[in-house]
Amino acid sequence: MADYDLIFIGGGPGGYVGAIRAAQLGLKVACVEGRDALGGTCLNVGCIPSKALLHASEMVHEAEGNFATMGIIAKSVSVDVPKMLAYKQGVVDGNVKGIEFLFKKNKVDWLKGWGRITAKGEVTVDGTAHKAKNIVIATGSEPSPLKGVEVDQERVVDSTGALELKAVPKNLVIIGAGVIGLELGSVWGRLGAKVTVIEFLDQITPGQDGEVAKQFQRILTKQGFTFIMGAAVSGVEKLKTKLKVGYALRKDDSKHEIDADVVLVATGRRPFTKGLGLEEAGVALDDKGRVKTDARWRSNVEGVYAIGDVIDGPMLAHKAEDEGMAVAEVIAGRHGHVNYGVIPGVIYTAPEVSSVGATEEQLKAEGKATRSASSASWATVAPRRISPPKASSSCWPTRKPTASSART
Ligand SMILES: Cc1cc2nc3c(=O)[nH]c(=O)nc-3n(C[C@H](O)[C@H](O)[C@H](O)COP(=O)(O)OP(=O)(O)OC[C@H]3O[C@@H](n4cnc5c(N)ncnc54)[C@H](O)[C@@H]3O)c2cc1C
Repeated sequence: MADYDLIFIGGGPGGYVGAIRAAQLGLKVACVEGRDALGGTCLNVGCIPSKALLHASEMVHEAEGNFATMGIIAKSVSVDVPKMLAYKQGVVDGNVKGIEFLFKKNKVDWLKGWGRITAKGEVTVDGTAHKAKNIVIATGSEPSPLKGVEVDQERVVDSTGALELKAVPKNLVIIGAGVIGLELGSVWGRLGAKVTVIEFLDQITPGQDGEVAKQFQRILTKQGFTFIMGAAVSGVEKLKTKLKVGYALRKDDSKHEIDADVVLVATGRRPFTKGLGLEEAGVALDDKGRVKTDARWRSNVEGVYAIGDVIDGPMLAHKAEDEGMAVAEVIAGRHGHVNYGVIPGVIYTAPEVSSVGATEEQLKAEGKATRSASSASWATVAPRRISPPKASSSCWPTRKPTASSART
């Protein structure tokens, strides 16, 4: 048993950034992480691996579509999927090791194992109890399941499985036109998959500015995406050689089927609080299973705080990081602040789509005066074509995406 000023449960962008900041402010800090690696969803199965594959597949596109235009003459480009996945894993491993180094440098203890709140000011990790004056729940989120669709991570995958496909599927059906579905669809589409997206709503990237979403869908369609909008998936039948995805159109309830080699379920994420002992500890959750917090990230139980994907707000790494920094400041007796009005969001497709602040629709719904200006540049962005690679085996660029930032 050890005594700490503060224990973070969860070593993702919220937990590891907060733990480092708290240690820098002079607190004795530990971070509990059940995975074999620090970095959470973002570094292991989220932002970093997806951006590594987006970068690599973008290079394929450049080599196939734009090199010759720029006077760069290369022999035919081919894709070695296992090697590309190894490149992605190398990027992940480098980032993960970086956090371990920062923990050591800042004297943050990594308590390896799954943590549970077992009493007031007590976190038990694999049978060992640790005392803490303060506890921060930073346990993140997990993919939401879809009724009638069983994920096996081979043929029916969630985002984690879609980062590990052993070969380029011929037909990839993506359920859900959110950020994760469109980014991973871009990866496998650029590598040669025929990508079909089935979306329940009538707009892609729900919550996005309507005009931007419309133009974005148009551009993706030109790149080879097929969209089936306003459709509810009823199930996925697993046959020997293919998958059959059943769906009904909401407008007339007509039933349809589409074949796929791989189905990606990308219907959103839900907070992860399993096994934490929150009910016994009396920590209140909201109707979506998120830990209820006040403006200073305090739960209803004294000494227990929560940050990141497990609380209200956009599920974004930089939002979790900012909350991690701010809660560390608050617990250290300083002023911690996050300006929720200016958290940017980026979809790393090509072109990238970025946004910040309220959309025109949200402002109008709030009865606020708005003024809009159309951006002609949207219409003139050259649509990028996805064309299948021709053969196999090649070598890949070594430039790595920027690491998720731990502030030292
Ligand atoms: C495919 C994909 C791409 C993404 N791309 C981006 C992007 O480009 N930009 C962006 O901003 N965001 C992106 N995100 C979202 C981002 O990953 C999350 O918002 C971010 O990771 C949330 O950080 P967190 O610290 O709250 O939780 P997490 O990163 O989920 O970390 C929580 C950690 O807690 C651990 N844990 C849970 N329970 C326990 C327990 N009881 N004991 C010990 N450990 C526990 C988990 O193992 C996990 O490692 C992406 C997500 C996905 C899935």
